[in-house]
Formats: sequence, C-alpha cells, structure tokens
Amino acid sequence: MSARNQSLSPIDRSSELRIDSAQLALLWQSAQILPLIEGHIGADEEQLRFLTAESVETLLVSFEIGERYFLGLARDGGQAFFAWRTSWINEPVNEDIKFEGFKTLREVGGSLSEVDLTLAMHAVGLGNWHAKHPRCSQCGAETISDLGGSVRVCSVDSSQHYPRTDPAVIVLVKDAADRILLGHQSIWPEKRFSTFAGFVEPGESFEECVSREVFEEAGVYCNDINYLASQAWPFPASIMIAFEAITDHPDTAKADGVEITEIAWFSRNEMKSAIASGALLLPPTISVARKMITGWYTAAPGYEVADLKSTEAWRP
Ligand SMILES: [Zn+2]
Repeated sequence: MSARNQSLSPIDRSSELRIDSAQLALLWQSAQILPLIEGHIGADEEQLRFLTAESVETLLVSFEIGERYFLGLARDGGQAFFAWRTSWINEPVNEDIKFEGFKTLREVGGSLSEVDLTLAMHAVGLGNWHAKHPRCSQCGAETISDLGGSVRVCSVDSSQHYPRTDPAVIVLVKDAADRILLGHQSIWPEKRFSTFAGFVEPGESFEECVSREVFEEAGVYCNDINYLASQAWPFPASIMIAFEAITDHPDTAKADGVEITEIAWFSRNEMKSAIASGALLLPPTISVARKMITGWYTAAPGYEVADLKSTEAWRP
C-alpha cells in the first residue's frame, strides 16, 4: 500500500462548477444520480443503482424533493454524478420495504468497483454530514444546502458551514523480526483482530497521536513511525491516516484491558495457520487495516493474498 498509486481519484470533483447553479441544473438532466436514504445508498449486491433525472421526477409521488449533491465528473468520459438525499413522504413501517433497493456502505463496500466505491464514499460522507447539520451552530436557525451540497448556509445570519472530516490514525505495529502486533476490541466479533487506531485530538500531530494511541492501547513505545497512505472512512465522518511503527520493545506489549482486551504478535506463518484453523478473523477487505495487513503479509516471497481469506466479520 502506498500513497503514489492512489493519488488520482477516478472522479474529478470539478469544484469550480459548484458556484454555477445553472450549469449544475443542466448537468443534473443527464447525470447518474445515486439515491440516499438515511445513510443507505441505492445498490444491489455488487454495484450502485443510479437513477436518471427523469426517474427521480416520477419518484416524487412517494419521496420528498430532498437535496442534490454534486459529486463530480468521471475523468473518463465526463459523465456527471450527483447524490440525491431524500426520504419517504409516508415512511413504510416495514424496514425491508423502506430500504428496498438500498444497502449500507458496510454491506456493499467490499464488492464495489473503484469508481462506485469512490462515489459511494463521497455521497455517504456528505449525506451523513448534511443530515446532522440541519441547523446553524451559531444561532440555531435552519441551514440550507448550497453550492452543489458543498456547504450549508444559515437562513438567518448567512454564516457558512462546511462538511467536517474527523482524522483518525491507524497503525501497523511491527518489531525487528518483522512480526506485527494486532489487538482485539471487546465490541468486535470473537477472534477478530486488527491494527490499532484512534482519533487525533486537538493540538496533536499525527505522529504524536500514533505514539499515544499505540502506548495507550498496546503498552509499547514506537521508535520509528512512517506514513503509508490514507483512506476516506465515512462511518460516519472519518479519514483514516495509515502509519507503520516499529518498536524495539515487543515484550512490553499488553492490552489496555478496556478498549483492547487481547493482543498478539504474528509472524507470517503464525498468521497463515491461525486463519486456516479459524482462530483468527481479519477486518473487512474494504478497510485500511486489512490493506495494511495484506501489504505486510505479501511483502515476503511465498505468502499469497489467498492465504488471508477469512469470513468477513463486519462490525454490526
Ligand atoms: Zn445562524
């Protein structure tokens, strides 16, 4: 996993178009429109389910007019994409009917193409933020989505409110023998182990956060910290900043007993046999943690991605 091969999104956010409401209205007419209801996206098992402007019109007998968010243009071909956040006019009591044709990102994220995942991450993250900010944080009045959904504006004092993203570091801890340290959280399914993570606090650098989190959760000091990559993680509003950290004191590792209830060092052979025997479940393939673990595992000759196949254990 490296920053280089992931640096260009397949969707050009075309932020210069956000100020041009006439152009956005025109683009909407030929857009692929991703419907959003309470954080659920239009999708079947493997791909997103887009609407046309025409089909949105016909759905307005059952759904609110909602809000339109401009997601950008495909770099390949220029297709415009929008999200449409709406809700039922008369909400069905039955959840199966309410969310028919919709999935959560957790349900479908691991099966989506790169383009679909990029759009879904943007739409869900943006939709989550809009849903939680209907009112101005300064005066409490109603806010209104503007500039293609990139901002909300207070209807009374005109203050602008921008989407927030919460930075969290995620850390692959290694020792000098190239083993990795994983931890189990009490809220996770049994046998699921993953890398260590935590939110960056005010006034803290990413590196300071890495050192603090690893010491708090696993009891080890890290000597050497290197940035790997980052990934949007809209559950509900994070970005994961991934690092690897080396410790010269692997024997001091111990679970904090609160957030982390168990920790274990793994060599590649130990991981391979723990997965084969069912003693270890890894985080989902969509996650940064899984990519870091896979990246480490396959970095040595003779160790294949296929060895790491294990039941997808999503956090409910
Ligand atoms: Zn206000």
